Amino acid sequence: MKVVIIGGVAGGATAAARIRRLDEKAEIIILERSGFVSYANCGLPYYIGGLIKDEHELTLQTPETLWSRYRIEVRTLHEAVSIDREKKEVAIKKLETDEEYRESYDKLILAPGAVPIIPDIPGINDSRIYTLRTIEDALHIKNGVDYNDIMSAVVIGGGFIGLEAAENLWSLGIHITLVDAADQVLPQFDRDMAGFVHSHLKENGFDLRLNRTVSGFESVEEGIIVNLDNGDVIETDMVLMAIGITPESGLAKAAGLELGGRGAIKVNRHMQTSDPDIYAVGDAVEIKSFVTGKRTSVPLAGPANKQGRIAADNIAGYDSRYKGASGTSIIKIYDLTAASTGLNEKWAKELDIPYEKVILSPPSHAAYYPGAHLMTMKVLFNINTWKIIGAQVIGYDGVDKRIDVLAAVMQSGGDIVTLKDIDLAYAPPFSSAKDPINMVGYISENVLTGKVKLFYCEDIAKLKDREDIQRIDVRTEEEHSSGKIDGFDRLIPIDELRDRINELDIEKPVYIVCQSGLRSYIASRILAQEGFDCYSFAGGYRFYECFRKDRFDKEGQLDCGVYI
Ligand code: FAD
Repeated sequence: MKVVIIGGVAGGATAAARIRRLDEKAEIIILERSGFVSYANCGLPYYIGGLIKDEHELTLQTPETLWSRYRIEVRTLHEAVSIDREKKEVAIKKLETDEEYRESYDKLILAPGAVPIIPDIPGINDSRIYTLRTIEDALHIKNGVDYNDIMSAVVIGGGFIGLEAAENLWSLGIHITLVDAADQVLPQFDRDMAGFVHSHLKENGFDLRLNRTVSGFESVEEGIIVNLDNGDVIETDMVLMAIGITPESGLAKAAGLELGGRGAIKVNRHMQTSDPDIYAVGDAVEIKSFVTGKRTSVPLAGPANKQGRIAADNIAGYDSRYKGASGTSIIKIYDLTAASTGLNEKWAKELDIPYEKVILSPPSHAAYYPGAHLMTMKVLFNINTWKIIGAQVIGYDGVDKRIDVLAAVMQSGGDIVTLKDIDLAYAPPFSSAKDPINMVGYISENVLTGKVKLFYCEDIAKLKDREDIQRIDVRTEEEHSSGKIDGFDRLIPIDELRDRINELDIEKPVYIVCQSGLRSYIASRILAQEGFDCYSFAGGYRFYECFRKDRFDKEGQLDCGVYI
């Protein structure tokens, strides 16, 4: 059997190695347009920042190692230019000589990835505007930074690639202006959670321009001018364009293969396209979200690797099926970690999924053991099925393990209350005897069994002037005087609540706030058992203050403090 693979990185290289492990006799050829194979795209930002010093560390394999270990023939600087499905041949261009030739296949795997989106705006072809996808791109940016006097950069797009590249440019002493058309960075997070990232970026000296689009660029002697839609003009030394990616599905389209939404290649669970002899994997394909059951794109390395293996299994004659993805992802932003899985509130609303949420700020490990940091967790679940539909965790330490546990439980279909029973590893340096994951289970059980009713940041504006309710803050006087939630002037510290309960009117609902949500929950239980109708504020003052401050001022600048 002869297998030709177009694209030799995450999906393509994985498929090639797996086919060899299953079939010693197969002829395997990888066609790769760039000069490198099996390289670490995810490491490219860190090469630019100098954390990864040697470019060779970015290549996990070379054509020579793939040949000697696996007898896989890799042809770099070879671009597949068309597919003849009738003859089962690929037309290929050797990029060094422009010579064209054809290669036959029994099975073809498409793993061409996705291309950065380049907007069609004036001045876009300026040589100081970069994108980041391949090793060549990273070398190009690094050369630009090393051999020019780069003092400032404008990064356009606050997704993963934009933020990681921005942080690494910043680490070289370059001043960063980050522009994004949305009112937040990292669209997989809700706006209230993204506020923590905004404040962290600002704390590290970023000039954040959100809700702004770039209308064009102008070349000037000293650099490049970036024009924004509101008339702002930013003069800078370089621009990194990271406004998103689009599946590289041109070859598939021209060959008449079925495409889905946003032009991604349609595949079945075996990663087979509409042509049974052609498989497709990675960023170029449309797959099923196991949270919603709908077709979507999840352009991440984990899914690409898994899909490559599954395509290989099927080609080698084994029945292997892709189960879908939930988009679990994580990013380091300086010392902050932000991770998410599944749906956020925006997406759940768009899909009309009835959900409830819990928000908490537990310490990363036992608070008495040095080095504990608060993290903020937001977990969404379907109110009818109780199944977890998404989670967002932001903090400094232990964020990765919490998001992975949540993703695993979500994928296995466990409901949110099962989190209280999960038996997790505990010792003071790592966790608490009640791990934050267990806490999510306890809180959601309290919510679902009616032991506590929650209210949220978005309710504050509606509650603050109502006379038919009572609003109390149960923190200490010192905490209250250093900052309070709008409308929550009345202070009854939690430890005085039982003695001062007569000050409250049992006829009126009581809305209770505290610092993190714990004391307001305790107050709720005290009052509920005395017959009060009461509501506890999810996330506490700490969460509210980040939400409140992360607003735009009159000039459209973000006004966000630092609250983690
Ligand atoms: P790719 O790995 O992109 O490989 C596609 C290859 O196909 C390319 O090398 C391209 O040159 C080649 N090709 C395309 N068309 C042709 C053709 N016609 N002929 C020959 N060759 C062709 N994901 C994460 O999960 N975590 C991260 O931290 C993360 N960080 C990232 C950082 C950066 C800077 C980038 C760019 C991506 C990052 N990703 C990350 C995304 C991840 O790298 C991709 O999801 C994954 O590599 C997709 O694998 P793929 O095989 O589909 O495509």
